[in-house]
Amino acid sequence: MSFDYLGLSDELLSAIKDAGYTEPTPIQKKTIPSTLQGRDILGIAQTGTGKTASFTLPLIDILSQGRARARMPRSLILEPTRELAAQVAESFDKYGKNSKLTCALLIGGTDFAGQVKKLDKGVDVLIATPGRLLDHMERGNVMLNGVEILVVDEADRMLDMGFIPDIEKICKMLSKKIQSLFFSATMPPEVKRLTDTFLKDPKEFEVSAPTATATTIKQHLVKFKGNDSVKRQVLRHILDGDDVKNAIIFCNRKKEVKIVNKSLKVHKYSAAELHGDLHQSTRMEVLNDFKTGKIKILVASDVAARGLDIPDVSHVFNFDVPSNPEDYIHRIGRTGRAGKTGTSFTLSTQFDKKYLDGLLKFLEKDIPIYKVPDSLLEDGKQKRPSRPKEDVKSAPKSEKKQPSRDTKAQNTNKPKNMNDENRHKSKEPVIGLGDHVPDFLIR
Ligand code: AMP
Repeated sequence: MSFDYLGLSDELLSAIKDAGYTEPTPIQKKTIPSTLQGRDILGIAQTGTGKTASFTLPLIDILSQGRARARMPRSLILEPTRELAAQVAESFDKYGKNSKLTCALLIGGTDFAGQVKKLDKGVDVLIATPGRLLDHMERGNVMLNGVEILVVDEADRMLDMGFIPDIEKICKMLSKKIQSLFFSATMPPEVKRLTDTFLKDPKEFEVSAPTATATTIKQHLVKFKGNDSVKRQVLRHILDGDDVKNAIIFCNRKKEVKIVNKSLKVHKYSAAELHGDLHQSTRMEVLNDFKTGKIKILVASDVAARGLDIPDVSHVFNFDVPSNPEDYIHRIGRTGRAGKTGTSFTLSTQFDKKYLDGLLKFLEKDIPIYKVPDSLLEDGKQKRPSRPKEDVKSAPKSEKKQPSRDTKAQNTNKPKNMNDENRHKSKEPVIGLGDHVPDFLIR
């Protein structure tokens, strides 16, 4: 089935063709016609399924008639993170290039006054994170009574990040007559309550079960005993041995993100870190460097990386088993996107046992075991891994600079659970050093 039968305008079809899409994805096929008919939508879909286009495309056609007034946006898209919001804005630029619609991005960490200026001119599509939007609302910079369409994206992530009260507050400011589209990868009870309250007789679509992972991803579980130093050794072994073109490495805590990144750099890998403590401009810069291939390895926290559309990631590593099993789906969903193939490795030691048990129960199936040589696991006298391949190593000199570190976070990363406590009781060389870990200690 081609895009021609979904009811979209010729201008939009031309932009879709220019984007290189030939067929709508299942979520697009299901939601676009109903959205164009004015129905409320509840879409259960994970990232990587083409869900951004499933709401941006019809939105562009629906808003094509009419004009925006100062400070009164005609549509509102709420995203949990700045990166996701910026990504949706990029989609609008791509798909809306033949329309005259104006778009504004209200996210933290960027120019507040510039955002006010844009709002003053009038915007058709307002893309925002809840906190920044409420900030502008409280100062009278934006009024929501002109909103005709609301999109709440990644509703379950909004819940994880504590944004549900903000979403409720925002929804209550909107007219009762608006069209609402909610998207979520999973449906926890709090999200269900939200959709029951704010959606009117919604058309529900589910493109994959909440526990489903893309079939294009080859998953591996690497189980072994050892501390984080051994884990890093195992990580390097796989980075060197598998055909890794580029990779995202997820850690459960920001502190771990920093340590793993630093360690990889010490070992001359082309790596950078991405987490919520970094300045917005640094986050964007790092992301861009990774997208363009300047950096080959991105070490990231869940919050910073959720939903990011980074095409062509060959590998995803879970340095830790995620504490929330659903994060596993999101993490490994960074690879094997839009029909491409990908590989994931999940490292699990005795300290991850609780989370691994929870994950396997959630997945209702085993993850195939990947064995690493025993010689690697002999703590203390570990052998050096085989000579690394050039593609993920040899960072150009300019990449060696560490992204800026937010000093505020340095002393606040206290271990949160037994897992973390144990790790620090182990032979890790980071005790008492806060986030500053000298290079010579990281191996
Ligand atoms: P999303 O789930 O919205 O993050 O989209 C995942 C990726 O799929 C993005 O890189 C989109 O550009 C791409 N994409 C979206 N729709 C299509 C389509 N119909 N055909 C091919 N790629 C698509």
